[in-house]
Amino acid sequence: MSTHGTAEPIVVHAIINGKKIETQRQYTRENPVNPNEIVCHAPINTREEAIQAIEAAYDTFATWKNSTVDERVERMRRAIEKVRAAIPELSRLLTREHGKPLYDAEGEFAVSLMWMEFACDIAKDVLRDEVKEHEKGKTIISHDPVGVVSAITPWNYPISLSTIKIAPALLAGNTMVLKPSPFAPLAVTKVVELIAEQFPPGVLNIVHGEADVGVELTSHPKVAKIAFTGGTKTAKHIMKAASETIKKMTLELGGNDAAIILPSFDPSDKRAMRRLVISNFLTAGQICMIAKRVYVHGSLYDEFIAKYVEAANQWIRVGDPFDPDVTIGPVNNEGQVKHVQSLIDDAKQRGAEVIKLGRVLHPELFEQGYFMQPTLVLGCDYNDPIVVEEQFGPTVPILPFDDEEQVIALHNESIYGLTSSVWGKEEDAVRVARRLEAGTTMINTAAVQGLDVRFPFGGVKQSGVGREYGAEGILSYTDTHVINIPTQLELPYIPE
Ligand code: NAD
Repeated sequence: MSTHGTAEPIVVHAIINGKKIETQRQYTRENPVNPNEIVCHAPINTREEAIQAIEAAYDTFATWKNSTVDERVERMRRAIEKVRAAIPELSRLLTREHGKPLYDAEGEFAVSLMWMEFACDIAKDVLRDEVKEHEKGKTIISHDPVGVVSAITPWNYPISLSTIKIAPALLAGNTMVLKPSPFAPLAVTKVVELIAEQFPPGVLNIVHGEADVGVELTSHPKVAKIAFTGGTKTAKHIMKAASETIKKMTLELGGNDAAIILPSFDPSDKRAMRRLVISNFLTAGQICMIAKRVYVHGSLYDEFIAKYVEAANQWIRVGDPFDPDVTIGPVNNEGQVKHVQSLIDDAKQRGAEVIKLGRVLHPELFEQGYFMQPTLVLGCDYNDPIVVEEQFGPTVPILPFDDEEQVIALHNESIYGLTSSVWGKEEDAVRVARRLEAGTTMINTAAVQGLDVRFPFGGVKQSGVGREYGAEGILSYTDTHVINIPTQLELPYIPE
């Protein structure tokens, strides 16, 4: 069995002002299938280099902000075509550094391009000045770029969570410094290179590293906005760092998304059950909006579990992510394996039953890589850590509930509120959905299967601030500027 792991490591660079920067210190990113295999060497940029990138973006903004939306769209469309042509090569790099199966890596590229194209399609309309003639005169409302945007992204969807920020920020006339996660720095840097080449030097820059570079990107006075996707804990540091200079921010954070299975759901609906399994285990469960806890109405519980296990055993095939029969690859990194395993061990100690799901196609790889066989956890209490914390991995607790009031309360007790899903007859599901505290609720599907880039996406409560995607996803990179031309120039109540 080939792990496609024989290629030479690739060297990744920071790009500042259109130039690749040579750096003193580097780190290595390993292949999660075989941690002895180095996939790439990436720089550990210094704070000084982060400042250089910010300065380059700041200086370039002075002219770039005056470009027309037509010009920006034209450049972005050229960039999209460059990325599209590179997908066969780049999705393989993504699979090697990340561990997600090739179909999943290609899917991530497809969603990224879908959004970039949609952003190009709507940019002119969304960014157009609104001119209002009214009884008090005339008002022009323009959507001005904010300036330098620091984009900081996680490892789980490095391409889509970067392009979700790059496309709207640049189309709105901003410049950007992006810092990807050290756990998947390779494919995204290649994507940034391809996009940056289509824009003037300094419009799109990329630096690498960990928290110290992140701190510079989130506190430097010349940064106007932070676009962050990652953990809620990290976001708390970022808010503090940004508070000194009151930066604007979009935060896309963690979630503990629930799937609620109503009495009107039919457990023998094989397509629906397959969708649910996928929404629990796609990308080995490492998606912010994966369904991380499932509540099933008690009247269905036994039949539901039996049918769920059947569907899961059919769909889940773990192994080499380059094998087209494999649906789930390894977990991305060792820390994540330990985190997920500790939640499972804790649940077992509390008396839960842990059921292994699916088939392992390449047992020989399990010993060497960050593999975990997906599991179902039954018999948990509602407040067990595996139920209330974000596992972000291939395990899911399923719990029974008695009635709508109870399950709505269980859903809304969470500190998170990213997405949720309700499964059953549409009218029942929508009735429950309206009462859930979440940024998005999907009916009879969940996670990326129910995502639509045309509409805003983001979380409530500690799952985030602001929205990406849709028109809001572009406007969030602008400041509203009102130019008032009143006919009555003085206020009558102010004495002469
Ligand atoms: P993370 O918060 O550990 O890291 C995210 C990024 O922040 C990385 O680039 C990291 O290097 C950087 N960073 C770390 N400390 C920093 C600091 N002090 N200042 C600035 N930057 C800093 O998250 P992760 O482990 O890479 O990703 C997993 C988390 O991301 C999960 O909680 C998941 O739910 C969340 N996520 C949310 C969404 C969403 O859209 N809501 C999407 C994907 C992932």
